[in-house]
Amino acid sequence: LPPFDPADPLGIDDLLDPEDLAVRDTVRRWAADRVLPHVAEWYEKGELPEIRELARELGGIGALGMSLTGYGCAGASAVQYGLACLELEAADSGIRSLVSVQGSLAMYAIHRFGSEEQKQTWLPRMASGEIIGCFGLTEPDHGSDPASMRTYAKKDGSDWVLSGRKMWITNGSVSGVAVVWAQTDEGIRGFVVPADSAGFSAPEIKHKLSLRASVTSELVLDDVRLPADAVLPEVVGLKGPLSCLSHARYGIVWGAMGAARSCFEAAVDYATTREQFGRPIGGFQLTQAKLADMALELHKGILLAHHLGRRMDAGRLRPEQVSFGKLNNVREAIDICRTSRTILGANGISLEYPIMRHATNLESVLTYEGTVEMHQLVLGKALTGLDAFR
Ligand code: FAD
Repeated sequence: LPPFDPADPLGIDDLLDPEDLAVRDTVRRWAADRVLPHVAEWYEKGELPEIRELARELGGIGALGMSLTGYGCAGASAVQYGLACLELEAADSGIRSLVSVQGSLAMYAIHRFGSEEQKQTWLPRMASGEIIGCFGLTEPDHGSDPASMRTYAKKDGSDWVLSGRKMWITNGSVSGVAVVWAQTDEGIRGFVVPADSAGFSAPEIKHKLSLRASVTSELVLDDVRLPADAVLPEVVGLKGPLSCLSHARYGIVWGAMGAARSCFEAAVDYATTREQFGRPIGGFQLTQAKLADMALELHKGILLAHHLGRRMDAGRLRPEQVSFGKLNNVREAIDICRTSRTILGANGISLEYPIMRHATNLESVLTYEGTVEMHQLVLGKALTGLDAFR
């Protein structure tokens, strides 16, 4: 029998082929080198000062639009994309958010619903990280219920004129291009809005106590005039943005387990070195019970992510299954962070350790890409056939 590996107690790595392992190692090394030494400081200051360099480097390792094909994208499998999300979020949810929004929301929308010209214009420079993108769906008064959005695009001759406000938009202020969803006379449509368009601005949202190493912004659209070909031609209706969100959410199923792994590792390390009452606190049964229970949920969560990844690669992943994964893994990740925090005692609240940073980050992850309650309602509807949304 192979020896028991505390880092992989279920032997999940056996599911990975050499290419998967290479992707994971590349991203893990990049995050260890470029994010971990600085992220506590970025977090404390509430900024991501090197975001443009980081985006270019992420482009360089193929992490932007990673599972898309063509246009300079890496064409990786869903499992490989998931492994990358896990490694990035083990460093910080803010970095994983940058990658998710760029690849799974902004690039995915253009790749799936854009014209050939839109794809040629934007995707190669987004894949390389030269241009950062954002995805504007949420509004100040419409979050979980985006169908009620007020942002409107009206036709003026062959042009479109866009007006409205978007809120809580990741990457907004640093974006060169925004994918903005708006009501039109025909239903909800997506627009590719260059950030230098007259009437467009993206003021940054300050005073966040979560995802502090991530840029979050408002999008202001005051009569932004766009040419006819700014609209994404291939989709009308909410299914457009929802399918992008399902793709990004799939990455979160993995990513949340990265944050959990980081906390769990810090807890094991601390438990085996910190002594009280003359012995390591990891020698007390109560601490071991915590570690054992956390290991169960961490590796069950990773196994679930693998399962969903394989279904996605086989073209068999349903949105309800993504809801299942996101609901479970983010909730369990938060639980693991909190329990890890108790093991570190007072040190658990310090930025010297990653735990509190991950715990507060995960509060955003619990809410964005569909709140816990929305995913409970998705599953509730799938289980009963009864719609409880309204
Ligand atoms: P609300 O929809 O007002 O919900 C408030 C509470 O009411 C929640 O608990 C919710 O579950 C509950 N609730 C609502 N309706 C029901 C119901 N029918 N039944 C039961 N409970 C209900 N959005 C983007 O478009 N692009 C981004 O890049 C982006 N990035 C984000 C980054 C961060 C850091 C954060 C925090 C958010 C981001 N968002 C983004 C917005 C995010 O998607 C929304 O916050 C989320 O959809 C929830 O909307 P809301 O905050 O308006 O909450």
